[in-house]
Amino acid sequence: MHATLPLLAGTDFLPIGRRRLETVQVNLGYVCNQTCVHCHVNAGPKRTESMTLETIEQVLAYAQACGATTLDLTGGAPELNPHFRHVVRTARGRGVRVIDRCNLTILFERGHEDLAEFLAEQRVDIVASLPCYTAELVNRQRGEGVYEKSIEAIRRLNALGYGREGSGLTLDLVYNPQGPSLPPAQARLEADYKRILGEQCGIVFNQLYTLANMPIQRFGSMLVSKGQFNSYMELLRGAHRDENLDAVMCRSLVSIDWQGYLYDCDFNQMLGLPLVVQGRRRPHVTDEITRDLDGNPIVVRDHCYGCTAGQGSSCGGALA
Ligand code: SF4
Ligand code: SF4
Repeated sequence: MHATLPLLAGTDFLPIGRRRLETVQVNLGYVCNQTCVHCHVNAGPKRTESMTLETIEQVLAYAQACGATTLDLTGGAPELNPHFRHVVRTARGRGVRVIDRCNLTILFERGHEDLAEFLAEQRVDIVASLPCYTAELVNRQRGEGVYEKSIEAIRRLNALGYGREGSGLTLDLVYNPQGPSLPPAQARLEADYKRILGEQCGIVFNQLYTLANMPIQRFGSMLVSKGQFNSYMELLRGAHRDENLDAVMCRSLVSIDWQGYLYDCDFNQMLGLPLVVQGRRRPHVTDEITRDLDGNPIVVRDHCYGCTAGQGSSCGGALA
């Protein structure tokens, strides 16, 4: 894989700083039941990295000390961490909102047959990737049969109330473009998804998030291989909007890797660009100095234009 970090250095992206912490995003490990082409963490069934119970307790203590109101669980497939349900129960018991970044097919894995019921019972919000409403594109990007299983999983979640008005059980879907282009307008695409998935599959969901592809990891490397890296960066830079700077997710979120180290966001984590606080690089959740990050400068590089281009992009979808 081509390294993209050296291509993102020397950035002219404007300096930005943190605000009050709201969301702690935790990568519970790289183990996954899928091996998607665009996976930015290179996750798969053969990966062994998984957050230990000791680190999980440290992360939960950190989130509580910071007063975070949301715990955002990601991976790999976060549910494959053996302590996943402990994390969920503890956070929910403290009144914290929990988001599960679920790949949907995990609901059919052995040992996870009651996962959907568990998530509903704990009132966990689900965010799931479905990069298209057609089988062909989803299966090409995420693996043969993934589309069919994803639709079946959404049916199962709908039957529990997920995605249904008034149930309080949220199911949001995520779209990202197949190639080096900006995502279309979120509201219009959401309407298309709802109409087509409703008519053809009889399924419902709450919101669609459209995300721009980041010029890092597998996608960035693919751009380098095809000689499209510079033109994609020009596209992102040319579409930058200052007004999106105010709402980029790193203002109010920290990202924690499976070993408990902190980053300004998931993308920086994947690039190996740790958060810097009081001049200290690669701080850990157990370090006292990480408790109050308000005002701390955010580590930026050229990939940050992926968050501010066009309608903007964050783990909660478009910013505009
Ligand atoms: S489901 Fe997610 S974590 Fe797993 S391989 Fe696909 S993109 Fe990566
Ligand atoms: S890539 Fe990360 S650090 Fe850069 S603007 Fe986006 S969220 Fe912030």
